[in-house]
Amino acid sequence: MMSPNEREQSTRTPYVAANWKMHKTVAEAAQFIDTLLPRIAATQSDVVVCPPFTALSAVVERRYGTAVRVAAQNMHEEGSGAFTGEISASMLVELDVEAVVLGHSERRQYFGETDASLARKVPAALAAGLEPILCVGESEAARDAGETEEVLERQLQVDLADVPAEDLDRVVVAYEPIWAIGTGRTASEAQAQEVCAFIRDVLRARGGAADRVRILYGGSVKPANAAELMSQADVDGALVGGASLDPAEFAAIVEAAA
Ligand code: PEP
Repeated sequence: MMSPNEREQSTRTPYVAANWKMHKTVAEAAQFIDTLLPRIAATQSDVVVCPPFTALSAVVERRYGTAVRVAAQNMHEEGSGAFTGEISASMLVELDVEAVVLGHSERRQYFGETDASLARKVPAALAAGLEPILCVGESEAARDAGETEEVLERQLQVDLADVPAEDLDRVVVAYEPIWAIGTGRTASEAQAQEVCAFIRDVLRARGGAADRVRILYGGSVKPANAAELMSQADVDGALVGGASLDPAEFAAIVEAAA
């Protein structure tokens, strides 16, 4: 018999996203997609590829008629203006991009992304029809100090402050502990479940849509640990960095989500 948690999870479509970061030229992206597509043809999961801006169109063109959707890795909160080097939501929508990663810890750490700007980016993405994949996560120092929940609650409260309760389930939340990103150190299944359940509780305070929100785990996900992590009751999928650069490895992770 399924527990109530397992029943709720079974109503949420699994979601697996490939965050390529600053990897892959247009030619490499095209080759990746051509290799990936036959390997995931039977998937029932949402499969999202997040290429660099320059490779978005090449991936969009190849994924028409397939299960793959395309996300950018960042966007600016304003619709247009004097923001040299930035890209707006409508520019992404024009390319048929469907989603956007927001608040990745590398953007927070290296490019000064703040919760205040995310509080504007998330509604801007939704207003343009993009699905935000909002990344949250604690540093190793915060975890060691017992501040994981405090950090996550603050990030969620601020970043989602202007998202109306009825739109909450249009947001995907990725729990990415900073100490697990690109380090080979994965959170245990129990740690991932504990924090994803906490995230859902924080969202629940905003209304019933929380039970429909997909919450992903990210941080050194690989074919060998993906199934265990994603089988946790509140872990609805994965945001994959390093292991998503190889189509066979990423396909194996997609398969593990089923
Ligand atoms: C990421 O960048 O979102 C990520 C989870 O990276 P990795 O899988 O390499 O830890």
